Amino acid sequence: MKIDVLSLFPEMFSGVFGQSILKKAKDLGKVNYNVVNFREFTTNKHQKVDDYPYGGGAGMVLQPQPLFDAVEQLAPTDGKKPRVILMCPQGQRFTQKHAEELAGEDHLIFICGHYEGYDERIRTHLVTDEFSIGDYVLTGGELPAMVMIDSVVRLLPGVLGNEDSPIKDSHSTGLLEHPQYTRPADFRGHLVPEVLLSGNHKHIEEWREKEALRRTFNRRPDMLEGYPLTEQQKKWIKEFEEGK
Ligand code: SAM
Repeated sequence: MKIDVLSLFPEMFSGVFGQSILKKAKDLGKVNYNVVNFREFTTNKHQKVDDYPYGGGAGMVLQPQPLFDAVEQLAPTDGKKPRVILMCPQGQRFTQKHAEELAGEDHLIFICGHYEGYDERIRTHLVTDEFSIGDYVLTGGELPAMVMIDSVVRLLPGVLGNEDSPIKDSHSTGLLEHPQYTRPADFRGHLVPEVLLSGNHKHIEEWREKEALRRTFNRRPDMLEGYPLTEQQKKWIKEFEEGK
């Protein structure tokens, strides 16, 4: 996968791309990161990327020219078109499903905004997607782009080892993950559930399935709307409703 990032603060990415799984993915040749300062694409003398909004008002607006030119240079003219993703609090809320879908692409271009906003023609005539990472406003699109890139790259085949496969992660399954314990079995009198020490894999799997459902029921009941519950899971939900 090729990932281009257009940002006015490219240095922000070196730490994140140079550590942990994102670095491993690059070292394995699964992904190639290219962070570009789109100021380099300005055609005006002072390399200005923004201007005052028509009609007046506070803040500066990113002009279309540098971003259009940058994307046009990065996108190949033949072959499959890249996804051009605008980081934006007005975009659709980014979820694990989107991460899974984007992980199937060959080329992603992320546009990180700053200042008050974007010239509307960037939305209407340049990008393919607009994503928000949540209902709050950040200073710039760099942190949201890092969040999205991390969630996508860890899903690329061969990036995570089998031992930390993403298949059972919260949100991948449609449920939150079950509780986890490690040594010691008794920590200050707080005991690990006996079933996990039993060595009985069938019972352990059943306990995990039930506790994942309980956790989702308690913390994120919205996730269960439309979730295809098995008959057993329906029985467990009844138990949870009765406080068991
Ligand atoms: N005035 C804009 C609005 O109301 O939509 C907010 C601009 S914000 C200060 C500057 C930039 O940060 C945005 O253009 C976007 O790139 C990024 N940003 C801020 N919050 C974000 C969020 N929740 N998700 C994705 N990007 C965000």
